[in-house]
Amino acid sequence: MRKPAESGTLPNTEPSSTEHEAISFHPIELTSERWNAVINNDPAYDGKFFYAVKSTGIFCRPSCKSRPPKIENIRLFDTAEQALAHHFRPCKRCKPTGERMPDDEWIQLVTDYIEQNYGANLTLEVLAEASHGSPYHLHRTFKRVTGLTPVEYIQQVRMNKAKQLLLQSELEISKIGASVGMANTSYFVTLFKRLTGLTPAQYRKQQHPPLGGHI
Ligand SMILES: [Zn+2]
Repeated sequence: MRKPAESGTLPNTEPSSTEHEAISFHPIELTSERWNAVINNDPAYDGKFFYAVKSTGIFCRPSCKSRPPKIENIRLFDTAEQALAHHFRPCKRCKPTGERMPDDEWIQLVTDYIEQNYGANLTLEVLAEASHGSPYHLHRTFKRVTGLTPVEYIQQVRMNKAKQLLLQSELEISKIGASVGMANTSYFVTLFKRLTGLTPAQYRKQQHPPLGGHI
């Protein structure tokens, strides 16, 4: 649907943003040439510009092999310093600043992502894509930094959210499971019981006994 303008220029997503005017720089135009460099991972453009992805807060070299971003989320910079000054973090995979992001900072990105997306379908692959690392490396590093595997961590976040919902809402057990990303109710109940020693219904009843007559 989206058609490049006559000049070969794609729409700049933030043409008139004044949010970051304290740092003066000229945003680079997202031409179709540069966009092609990004989606084709073209190393010929490395060093000529950097692209940041607003939805992940990460910036990359054009050649980065990470999944192509959505065009509306992309923002270009002349230098890595400019991207850093705008609070984007260097990608772990293509290392646009030439240094590795410290592991604890990287894992923090992943745990933040889990906190924000626990209701969605989260797999190791999804987390690896979102944080620009390989699934294998992410799994190992995550375990070393947090003491838990990514899956264990996700389960813990989900069970904590489920506990809150059990106490603070009257939602059915199946709805609570679904809203914490576990649409399979029997699996949700089994996991809840394994991690807390009680079924969701028992937990709700124990913590929150029904008032007289109320079922
Ligand atoms: Zn990258």
